[in-house]
This record gives sequence, C-alpha cells and structure tokens, in this order.
Amino acid sequence: MEISKELADMINDQLNFEIYSGYIYLAMAAWFEDQNLAGIAHWMEIQFDEEYAHAMRFWRHLYERGAKVELKAIEGPKTEWASPLEAFEDAYEHEKLVTQRIYKIGELAEEQKDRATLSFLNWFYDEQVEEEDKTMEIRDLLKMIGDSIPALLQLDAKLGARGEAPPVPQESTGP
Ligand code: MG
Repeated sequence: MEISKELADMINDQLNFEIYSGYIYLAMAAWFEDQNLAGIAHWMEIQFDEEYAHAMRFWRHLYERGAKVELKAIEGPKTEWASPLEAFEDAYEHEKLVTQRIYKIGELAEEQKDRATLSFLNWFYDEQVEEEDKTMEIRDLLKMIGDSIPALLQLDAKLGARGEAPPVPQESTGP
C-alpha cells in the first residue's frame, strides 16, 4: 500500500524534529562540558546519537514506502541553562512533546488504516516511555540533590558510565 502524501509529510517533519532534538541534546552536552560536568555531558552526547538513530528510522520508513525525505533548516537550540535541573526539566518537557507528535502521526495512520506505519510506530511508542522515564528520573534526582556538590558529582560519575547508543538500524532486506 502506498503511503499517503499527508502521512509521509508528517513523518518527514518528525524526521527533521528528531534531528532538532539531537541538536538540543548536543547544546546541553556543550553546556555541561562548560560546567565541568563531563559525565552528564557524555550522557547528553549519547542522547544526541540516539536522536540521530530515531531520525534514521523515519528516513528508512519513508524510503521503504516509496516516499521522499526532505531535509529542512534546523532551528538553533537554547544554549544556556540556569542549572542542571533546568536542563533536565527542559529535556523532560521536550520528550513529552515528542511523544505527542508521534501519537499524532499514529492518529492519522489509524484514520488511513496504514497498518505498516502503525506497526512501525510501535517501536517509538515504547521508546518514548523510556525517553520520558529517563529524563524524569534524572530531573527528580537533581531535585533531591539540590545544592549538594558531592551528590551532583556522584550523579555526574553515574551518568558518565552510560553505554553507547544502539546502532542505527539498517535496511532489513535487499532487493
Ligand atoms: Mg527522539
């Protein structure tokens, strides 16, 4: 079944939005580097890698369905935060926005009975639960930490141990 132009456009916008998400996390990585919190900066860099992988999943789905990818200008992200807590509050709010956007794509796919897109989106529904959970958990830890420098450095060490992002998915079958 051919994907509709309307649905393909929405997925293309989301592809661009995932790159924008990566941009936000990369800006946060730079800010945490400036704060000498190299562990949290590392966590943000891995998050950037994950956003790139998300974008590529949308890329792959569009090409597999015979649609085209259109790369658009990416807005410059915020570059300063008042505190680590403020950065993670932003991250959590941003992930909730991403979830809403993906649900909207799902609503249109449901309307159009595009089961291939619905099946494809299942991975993202699960992933967004994880993304919201991760950012919410770190935000809550930062609230608990408050002004304690030793506790903040302990969190920095913990987040510095984050493993590599999963590989970017490749095309499953050849022609
Ligand atoms: Mg994402």
